[in-house]
Amino acid sequence: MSGRWQGSTRRDELPADWPAIRAAVLERDRHRCRWLEGGRYCARWANQVDHIRPGNDHSPTNLQALCADHHAIKSSREGNAAPRVSRWRPTERHPGLL
Ligand SMILES: [Zn+2]
Repeated sequence: MSGRWQGSTRRDELPADWPAIRAAVLERDRHRCRWLEGGRYCARWANQVDHIRPGNDHSPTNLQALCADHHAIKSSREGNAAPRVSRWRPTERHPGLL
């Protein structure tokens, strides 16, 4: 009905060469998730690039590779004016399977 759910392509003023920056960060981090929890890196396959400190600093030192799950978690923690991500579920389990 309303257009409120059409925000999936919204970006916070990413630079024109963002695709190149993003690729370089993923390469630098070897596509490993840099999410640190309990003293260990998640290290799962990362295909997202996260701003360590939210804002318009797109330098490599402020960017890190994250897996889709952790990028969603971090984005929701930061607010990002996107409350819709709070209900994001990485896997669906059907109780009847076990
Ligand atoms: Zn991760």
